[in-house]
Amino acid sequence: MILLQSPQLVQETAWRWKTESNSRIALVPTMGALHEGHLSLVQLARKYADKCVASIFVNPTQFAPNEDLTRYPRPFEADREKVQAAGVDLLFAPTREQMYPEGFQTSVILSKLGRHLCGASRPGHFEGVATVCLKLFQISRADVAVFGEKDFQQLRVLEQMTSDLNLPVRIVRAPLIRDADGLALSSRNRYLDAEMRQRALCLSQGLGFWRSNAEPTLSVGRIRQDLQRKVTNAGLRLDYAEVCDERELSPYPDTATLRDIRTPRLFIAAFAGITRLIDNVSLHGDSR
Ligand code: AMP
Repeated sequence: MILLQSPQLVQETAWRWKTESNSRIALVPTMGALHEGHLSLVQLARKYADKCVASIFVNPTQFAPNEDLTRYPRPFEADREKVQAAGVDLLFAPTREQMYPEGFQTSVILSKLGRHLCGASRPGHFEGVATVCLKLFQISRADVAVFGEKDFQQLRVLEQMTSDLNLPVRIVRAPLIRDADGLALSSRNRYLDAEMRQRALCLSQGLGFWRSNAEPTLSVGRIRQDLQRKVTNAGLRLDYAEVCDERELSPYPDTATLRDIRTPRLFIAAFAGITRLIDNVSLHGDSR
């Protein structure tokens, strides 16, 4: 596996792969602290391309000043071993200065999709995500980029950006990977002690309950109130629980019923102590 820090060297390597061996390139962007969820993306990426590039970059522009940028886990050596074992051909791990040299001033703004859900609680977050991903696509010359449904809104934002800007990259969705007890795998789970982790199960359990009980006549308000209660009872603080159409991602009012929504998906975000956790589940038949 090649390890590179310089965007230019990655671009040159990708160019060689394309021109000399006509290779297709798949990209898996991450912020590191890798777990089985990330590695499942690598497995999928390898099916779509000849060469697999993974990136590890804790992108400062997607964190608000009060968020966990400085304490975000960075176990680089362990991550390097994991991606190498998973069959990654090139690991791109730039510094902040390499990604945002002095004078950097361009960003990608999505006027709608980035504003709801996490975009409402984390202003500027999706601008940071879209901009860094556009840079990563250009640097790696990716034909395919794989993103997890764990961050469903991020996935939609990137699909929309790719379509709006005619980017020559195909976005591939990877299923959300859960721990055996149902908790969605996340790098931030490392912040949770055993008790908090147990309490955090209210999220996946709450979503799982409504996935199994998603009747067409069910109202959005009923689901939201129930989740609010479950989260509070478990000792977490709800940020939001919303039912959205999974394409538009605008939340539906409490009076709407599931049959009013073409492809309903349930989204939740809550704080377990100071750790913000998110999860989501489809409420229509054909997916998770
Ligand atoms: P992150 O390192 O948190 O920025 O995540 C990098 C990529 O891994 C994103 O596309 C995430 O959606 C994906 N990912 C993170 N956790 C999971 C999970 N539990 N299941 C599937 N994909 C995940």
